[in-house]
Amino acid sequence: MERVDVLVVGGGIAGLAVASALQEKGDVLLLEEKASLGGLAVELSCKATDRCLRCGVCRAAEVVRKGWFGVENITGESPRAVVREKGGFRITTDRRELAARLVVLATGAVPFPVEEFPQYLWGRKERIFTGFELERRLKSGNLEEFAAFRSLAFVQCVGSRNARKRLGYCSQVCCRYALRLVANLRFRFPEVRIDFYSMDLQVLGDGQEALRDAAHSVFRYRSLPFALQEDGDGVTVFVEVDGKATKRRYDAVVLSVGLVASPGTQRMAELFRLPQREGGFIVPHPQDGVFACGTATGPKDITSTICEAERLSEELGALLGR
Ligand SMILES: Cc1cc2nc3c(=O)[nH]c(=O)nc-3n(C[C@H](O)[C@H](O)[C@H](O)COP(=O)(O)OP(=O)(O)OC[C@H]3O[C@@H](n4cnc5c(N)ncnc54)[C@H](O)[C@@H]3O)c2cc1C
Ligand code: SF4
Ligand code: SF4
Repeated sequence: MERVDVLVVGGGIAGLAVASALQEKGDVLLLEEKASLGGLAVELSCKATDRCLRCGVCRAAEVVRKGWFGVENITGESPRAVVREKGGFRITTDRRELAARLVVLATGAVPFPVEEFPQYLWGRKERIFTGFELERRLKSGNLEEFAAFRSLAFVQCVGSRNARKRLGYCSQVCCRYALRLVANLRFRFPEVRIDFYSMDLQVLGDGQEALRDAAHSVFRYRSLPFALQEDGDGVTVFVEVDGKATKRRYDAVVLSVGLVASPGTQRMAELFRLPQREGGFIVPHPQDGVFACGTATGPKDITSTICEAERLSEELGALLGR
């Protein structure tokens, strides 16, 4: 049975940053359930126009590059059983048994799965995109349809700030990624009209001036649509503006989805018997040797995730006595 000081579960930027920073301080092993490392951040795109919009994606790429070469890791495996024993944990995966003194859960979040909640989406979904789909299209350069669109609506807070659905929290990242996508689309296609439906704007943080410029380039409504209907030619948005129910027509709609705990985070909550917050995010038990960082504990952006992972590695280094 392999013995390590710290077992990091999850190979996104949180897990890679904490494992990289701990290299000199103890024996560290990282388990990632997918075939490759990097998590959600490596699926996101650079959103620069003629200037950098400070989205943090290249900082994430740097963490992944460093972790890829510097961290001992096993991909395609995840803890299946855990036994607490004196001085740590015995952990079984599909293929091996491990003993670890401390565990870090960095199992992350996923974009809100809008397809599982029909109340957020009506129609055939050919002209309704999630923000995550748009990020991936931008990354792969697949924006041909967008070149033909003359009007777009961005709908904010999809899967967040909805206490009735037990998703009352703010997902932190979606106002900022949406405004960066707006800036990028307007830079590529200056003729497009963009309407922006939101309650308010969370734009504090890196590059907020550029985000404010993007917010000024759109028509903003302080209201969220209550229904969308798609047909072959476009999408009708049903929304209450100034107390009156009204409908507007667009060539396409982008849903700015928030974050919920990943299925892997939810499984780890059960395995380690950890409490969960709204959205399934976990509350760690450091007093028992179970730590957590990154979006496994709640929505946060790339910069905050990396800072949190670095702080945690200091704390763990001190516990390991190095
Ligand atoms: C649409 C969208 C756009 C975004 N845009 C931006 C942006 O422009 N700027 C920004 O700063 N942030 C942005 N974010 C947020 C950013 O993606 C996160 O801050 C970042 O990915 C958090 O990293 P993480 O390591 O905590 O989690 P993740 O990236 O989710 O990584 C978790 C890793 O753990 C693995 N895992 C899960 N469960 C298990 C398990 N049980 N066993 C083993 N492995 C497991 C997963 O496979 C994954 O590799 C965006 C998010 C979304 C959804
Ligand atoms: S911070 Fe974002 S917008 Fe700026 S260069 Fe890096 S990836 Fe591109
Ligand atoms: S970041 Fe913006 S879009 Fe996302 S939940 Fe918060 S207020 Fe809504």
